[in-house]
Amino acid sequence: MTWQATVMTLFPEAFPGVLGISLAGRALENKTWSCSTYDLRQCGLGRHRAVDDTPFGGGAGMVIRADVADAAFSAVDAPADVPRVFLTPRGTPLRQKDVVRYAGAPGVVLMCGRFEGVDERVLEAHNVEQVSVGDYVLSGGEAAAQVFLDACVRLLPGVMGSDQSGVEESFSDGLLEYPHYTRPAEWQGRKVPDVLLSGNHAAIAAWRQKKAEETTRERRPDLWSAWLARREKNETAAG
Ligand code: SAM
Repeated sequence: MTWQATVMTLFPEAFPGVLGISLAGRALENKTWSCSTYDLRQCGLGRHRAVDDTPFGGGAGMVIRADVADAAFSAVDAPADVPRVFLTPRGTPLRQKDVVRYAGAPGVVLMCGRFEGVDERVLEAHNVEQVSVGDYVLSGGEAAAQVFLDACVRLLPGVMGSDQSGVEESFSDGLLEYPHYTRPAEWQGRKVPDVLLSGNHAAIAAWRQKKAEETTRERRPDLWSAWLARREKNETAAG
């Protein structure tokens, strides 16, 4: 069955964009997923098809109107089991476990914001999940939607070359991934760690686990604390 992505945007020409190349592009061609857009301007008001207005309470910028966004959600009319997502820096940070959930749904409807965002009432009325792709501010939701969709599409059945590629990567077990090396075995005086050339699979697995733990501890103390807590819980449960 085709995983259906519908993107509500003021810039439909931005899609599929980078998702039209490589793995995601091939999967799009062979209909593992589909990417349709809905131009918010179609629901715009008046001669100029205005979609935005000034914020109540004052302040800089403009806000996408509730009636306009509502008409767009209604026009898209996705089945009830398809998650509706608004991309926003105010959202819950997107994690790999969320990506797994979205990829397991029949598809997704993504709303790309512009200006200051979208009237909150319409997000409540349509049960829209609010998701952030990182702690920084982009100028629009289109780049965020591409990040979101790329992460989902690569998990769809058959998209990645080897089934293992999704199992062993960063976040899959709560840790960042170990470092990678390929030929030449020595480059500009830098040698690949001996253990990786040893052919000893148990030693390689142990080295990779140690590196994954070290990297996570150094770079992501938040993930490291969560991983330690989970390990302790599992050890306690195992007695
Ligand atoms: N005023 C908003 C705030 O401070 O939260 C930022 C608005 S931003 C200029 C315009 C649009 O870009 C947002 O409505 C959202 O759709 C998108 N956007 C910006 N940063 C994002 C992020 N980190 N994650 C997801 N979407 C983002």
